[in-house]
Amino acid sequence: MEHGFIAWAKQRAMRLPKIKLGIGDDCALIASDGSDWVVTTDSLCEGTHFILDQCGPQAVGRKLVGVNLSDLASMAAVPVAVILSLCLPRKSADLLGSEIYEGVCEACEKYNVAIGGGDTNVWDGPLVVHLTAIGTARPAGSWLRSGARPGDKIVLSGRLGGSLLGKHLDFEPRLKLAQALYPLGIVQAATDISDGLGIDLLNLTAASRCGAEVELDRIPISDAAMERSKSSGHTALEHAIGDGEDFELLMAVDPARIDQLPSEVDGVPLTVIGTFVSRTGLWSRSKGRIEQLQPRGYVHG
Ligand SMILES: [Mg+2]
Repeated sequence: MEHGFIAWAKQRAMRLPKIKLGIGDDCALIASDGSDWVVTTDSLCEGTHFILDQCGPQAVGRKLVGVNLSDLASMAAVPVAVILSLCLPRKSADLLGSEIYEGVCEACEKYNVAIGGGDTNVWDGPLVVHLTAIGTARPAGSWLRSGARPGDKIVLSGRLGGSLLGKHLDFEPRLKLAQALYPLGIVQAATDISDGLGIDLLNLTAASRCGAEVELDRIPISDAAMERSKSSGHTALEHAIGDGEDFELLMAVDPARIDQLPSEVDGVPLTVIGTFVSRTGLWSRSKGRIEQLQPRGYVHG
């Protein structure tokens, strides 16, 4: 959204000091005297990202931490602290604020992250919550979206699709997985799946100036995607490609060392779903046929 604005801001921010990597990846990299800082921010708006009556304020707090930590995980960063800002509806500000904070605290405790304060406003609008997460970068280099090369294998953690049935509120940012894979030195690029496999893969290929060929039969489909497909008018595969908010990791792995890729980490499966290619764009391979893959997942033809 607001691509015009984002493109403009990207150019404008480049002229500012201390930015090693600015707008366009999962997090920014900021130079420091020691390890670089890895910084990301996300907002959740009532009615757009959650229905408060359905999920409750604590889940909103947990999700807010989770989405930001997922971005840190996608750069293999080590989380350090979060800063929380709330815009609370006037009629229930105190109760709502404390319950969201409880959810944030719960998640921060789980992932060993400090809460470095924040800001609270009361207003007449709906609930809007913002969180900024700060981590430290790996001295040997962060995983970026721009590191994939033609020939690299496309590797995915977990199973995709149907997050609306629960996973979008209750997921595990893949910090442990990143921690386990980073020392192997086989991951060349990564992002997390927030907008959907198709769109996030397209963003990764655009940053890496290559394309991707996905073997549709290999995409791991979640039970929730199967469930959704019974009533949605879309196939489970379409849900897996297009739904988003899976918060799994999408990686480019060195093909020469693909045999070092574990089949799972702590019960989370790792699956090779295709190959990065020099021909730009997204392509699907199914039963020997190669076709253009629509990023939203609705496959025609
Ligand atoms: Mg991301």
